[in-house]
Amino acid sequence: MGDGAPGPVAVVLGTRPEAIKLAEVVRRLGAAGLVVHTGQHYDATMWSDVTAQLGFAAAPLSLGVGGGPRGRQLGGAVAALDATFAEHRPSAVVVQGDTTAALAGALAANAAELPLVHVEAGLRSFDRRMPEEHHRVVIDHLADLCCAPTPTAVAHLRAEGVADERILLTGNTVVESVHHLLPDESAQDAVLARLGLPAQYLLLTVHRPENADHPDVLRQILTEVAGLVTEGLPVVFPAHPRTLARLHGHGLSDLLDRLTTIPPQPPAEFLALANRARLIVSDSGGVQEEVSVLKKRLVVVRRSTERPEVLGTFASLVPAGVRLGAAVRAALAEDPAALRSLPSPYGDGSASRVVVESIVKLVAPS
Ligand code: UDP
Repeated sequence: MGDGAPGPVAVVLGTRPEAIKLAEVVRRLGAAGLVVHTGQHYDATMWSDVTAQLGFAAAPLSLGVGGGPRGRQLGGAVAALDATFAEHRPSAVVVQGDTTAALAGALAANAAELPLVHVEAGLRSFDRRMPEEHHRVVIDHLADLCCAPTPTAVAHLRAEGVADERILLTGNTVVESVHHLLPDESAQDAVLARLGLPAQYLLLTVHRPENADHPDVLRQILTEVAGLVTEGLPVVFPAHPRTLARLHGHGLSDLLDRLTTIPPQPPAEFLALANRARLIVSDSGGVQEEVSVLKKRLVVVRRSTERPEVLGTFASLVPAGVRLGAAVRAALAEDPAALRSLPSPYGDGSASRVVVESIVKLVAPS
């Protein structure tokens, strides 16, 4: 820079959920933000179709690190970010959530001695089998500012000794993302019509390694949920590329025959599908939060969750296995109207504003 002006705020993103949940932060930063995409998600359905709906003022700076084994991705992204930070001299670095890209952003910020802001800090599944759990812990302990979405997340950070002055309770930016992206009722009708869907259906997403990477587990999930199709409830399955690759790789493609399999949907279309679904079954992190805004019922098909705030109301936790079908039927028997008046535990849609205000304070010359 050389002119004494503060550098941009680098917003490091790698995947679809980070882009969706940081969109309002990026819009609010405007010209002060520099969006850097590591390339963890790179195909059109997972990246360019997603960001096309998010209203970024400028195209992200693309590092093209791509997928591949976690260690190689992490090392490649840290090295590429190090060069990017040297060139653009950011005044701060923002990362979100628990992806490999977020960890790379945190490590590169630390190496360059740049202030680090972690959006969605303090989530814990206490399940050390999940790579994401390790990412979250490391990022939170490197961050200068931990933006915690809920009091539970604040309590986790305090319990690990993170000082109070590094913690800010902000709510979760997912709330404003849903408000921004959810199409109106007639556009939702159009999404269903375009996909040829009936009024009643179940929406399924599966992509976590604990489910997708084990052929027996994946077979069990798809078989249990497909039982509903036999009982007259179609199952709409926007298939994540990772899951499709595993299904094809393990010779399990015939499991798709009973499902209405569609490509990953752009965020607005996906939210329309979620909003109109009779029930959602998913192992997604973000979908657990979105159902609390949409007031929908979700069966979380996982061994553990870092989002306990929605359990017992919007969501129930059921590991893959023979109990899944029964759990889905039990959830279908509940009265969906009971959720309508429940507030979201993730706040009122002001998290992005609070996050950006705190970044501005953090980078202000003292
Ligand atoms: N999503 C989407 N299209 C789809 C499936 C999901 O836009 O076909 C959105 C969803 O609304 C949520 C985010 O992607 O905002 C969740 O991403 P994912 O489940 O891949 O990751 P996780 O949240 O588990 O990290």
